[in-house]
Amino acid sequence: MKVDFNNLKRSYELYQNEYEEKVLSVLRSGWYVLGKEVREFEASFAVANGAKHCVGVDNGLNAIILGLRALGICKGDEVIVQSNGYIATVMGISANGATPIFVEPDEFYNMDVSKIEGKITSRTKAVLITHLYGQASNVIKIKELCDAYNLILLEDCAQAHFAQFEGKFVGTFGEMGFFSFYPTKNLGAFGDGGAIITNNEILEKKLQTLRNYGSDKKYNNQVIGYNARLDELQAGLLSVKLKHMDEIIERRREIADRYLREIINACVCLPETRNESTSIWHLFVVRVDPNLREDFRKYLLEHGIATDIHYPIPPHLSMAYKELGYKTGDFPIAENYANSVVSLPIFDGMKMEEVEKVIDITNKWKLEECSTI
Ligand SMILES: *Cc1c(COP(=O)(O)O)cnc(C)c1O
Repeated sequence: MKVDFNNLKRSYELYQNEYEEKVLSVLRSGWYVLGKEVREFEASFAVANGAKHCVGVDNGLNAIILGLRALGICKGDEVIVQSNGYIATVMGISANGATPIFVEPDEFYNMDVSKIEGKITSRTKAVLITHLYGQASNVIKIKELCDAYNLILLEDCAQAHFAQFEGKFVGTFGEMGFFSFYPTKNLGAFGDGGAIITNNEILEKKLQTLRNYGSDKKYNNQVIGYNARLDELQAGLLSVKLKHMDEIIERRREIADRYLREIINACVCLPETRNESTSIWHLFVVRVDPNLREDFRKYLLEHGIATDIHYPIPPHLSMAYKELGYKTGDFPIAENYANSVVSLPIFDGMKMEEVEKVIDITNKWKLEECSTI
């Protein structure tokens, strides 16, 4: 039996009839961009998150780009971001001409609150946290710090749809929450999609304008905008999936719970979970000795289990950011994570015997060597 790292066909098959019905109805409607489906999805996604407004866009990166632009963040400004995140978050800052300032992560892979203050300067405009791998960051403490320094809190929720911190959904603590609906995300479309949630009506209007060439009315262009629209098909399909999100999250939690309880191997470090936070388990990330990582992945693959790495190169060491002038050693925690993380399979429609196989094979890896540690 082979275990895929992810299998989007299984995810589709879970609600196949409903998806197919929706696709036909959108195709037959004769309206394909920014229409009823987008409005309906925006309204229900806002309500589901406990936010006042939602603006659908074409992908997660553009959600961040438009969000920062709507706030007027630009060249000369600094935005604080974590050093171990996904590079798209950082690119959302750079695309506006602003400078990303990196802060090291905590043991939960999210931004370390205690390391933020030392990075604040007179140019700092915002703190952009990512609720990485599906678990909420220490967001209340970060919000207090932002308030104390008059900084804007922004949340990249692309991996954490409906994750909670002390019972409140991520994306609603800061000024805006940014979402991606890329197919592999927990709320994934069948193509690209994204959204911004906010309680600020002025920002909502600005974002609606920015996503459509800067026009508030047809041919009435207020600013130089973008084409970053969400299409009707994706919005319709997202509305279908949104109705099933509780089930989808619940099944992932069952898988993660089994991994957490049953993977017992001294060589494999399991993810830490924070009491105040509920993870939606976008990814299940373990760590192994950097010198053994290739061996671990090869061993799993030889037993038919595919894995992945999120992410092998931290943004400060990426070619894309060579101009920032960082070198190896500048962010040792992020670099250590980049060298040691391994993502185990977790996906919608994953079968319990597949989960059991991952547990069993993982537990048998390097049994002799590690049992003595
Ligand atoms: C996926 C992702 C993005 C980018 O979303 P796209 O829709 O692929 O542009 C941004 N931030 C994080 C944390 C992500 O995981």
